Amino acid sequence: ATPTSIMVGTGKGAESGILFKGGEHLERTHQLDVIVMDKTGTITRGKPEVTDFTGDEETLHLLASAEKGSEHPLAEAIVAHATERDLKLADADAFQAIPGHGIEAVVSGKRVLVGNRKLLAEHGIEAASAESELARYESEGKTAMLIAVDGVFQGIVAVADTIKETAPEAVRQLKEQGLQVVMLTGDNERTASAIASQVGIDQVIAQVLPGEKADKVKEIQLEGKKVAMVGDGVNDAPALAVADIGIAIGTGTEVAIEAADVTILGGELLLIPKAIRLSHSTIKNIR
Ligand code: ADP
Ligand code: MG
Repeated sequence: ATPTSIMVGTGKGAESGILFKGGEHLERTHQLDVIVMDKTGTITRGKPEVTDFTGDEETLHLLASAEKGSEHPLAEAIVAHATERDLKLADADAFQAIPGHGIEAVVSGKRVLVGNRKLLAEHGIEAASAESELARYESEGKTAMLIAVDGVFQGIVAVADTIKETAPEAVRQLKEQGLQVVMLTGDNERTASAIASQVGIDQVIAQVLPGEKADKVKEIQLEGKKVAMVGDGVNDAPALAVADIGIAIGTGTEVAIEAADVTILGGELLLIPKAIRLSHSTIKNIR
């Protein structure tokens, strides 16, 4: 494409809310084979809400007080849920986030753990009785977290996040364009698959630790494919940088936007197939 047609192309993109950092990214977008999409905040709205809680009142208090120290969307949902119930939260000590697993804190002298199976297993806490309920929540597309107090399992909190309305149509268009669409998430396999099937994605890479997302993108590139990564979170930034085209969600974190080559305003996923069409028409306009 000529410099002029590229300038026209990036201008057109900007008008529709597709912000390319440079013309070379617009040029490369038409060569893509695979679109890898983060789940939370990219495919889903990223505004989760508590739907189920199986513990007692004291556990809810400890849970929400512990999560107050976390900036994770899951934590915000839990804190909001407790606040709506007029619970006065305590200050937590020794708060620690364990990426991809959960959190740990001391509340009112009690050691509180909240997170996935792996987190409890690593602390040697027995929670086999929770398994069937966990599986049920997960098959509903919810993220279910286990709560332990002083080494004893005390309940499950389940959180649901709804998919963006236009996500299924965006996925449909991408597939029609001949692209392979993959979901990449730190969440567990069952929850991820439930969300994926709601949007029409049939390939899921789940339970990926924040530090491993970039490696997953590299693995696909090693198959000889050109990969776009779409994400919003701090934990997506390395994968956005490694991808052939990094696409940040405009409503996401600053870190993700900085690491990406393109930002789609408002997080509108339909702008991704649109960017690909724009790249194709720009390349064709060499005349
Ligand atoms: P995603 O890729 O969906 O953003 P993360 O890698 O942030 O997922 O988290 C993976 C998993 O770790 C979550 O599904 C949850 O089980 C657990 N987790 C993360 N943060 C928290 C938290 N603040 N409280 C409880 N569990 C958490
Ligand atoms: Mg995300």
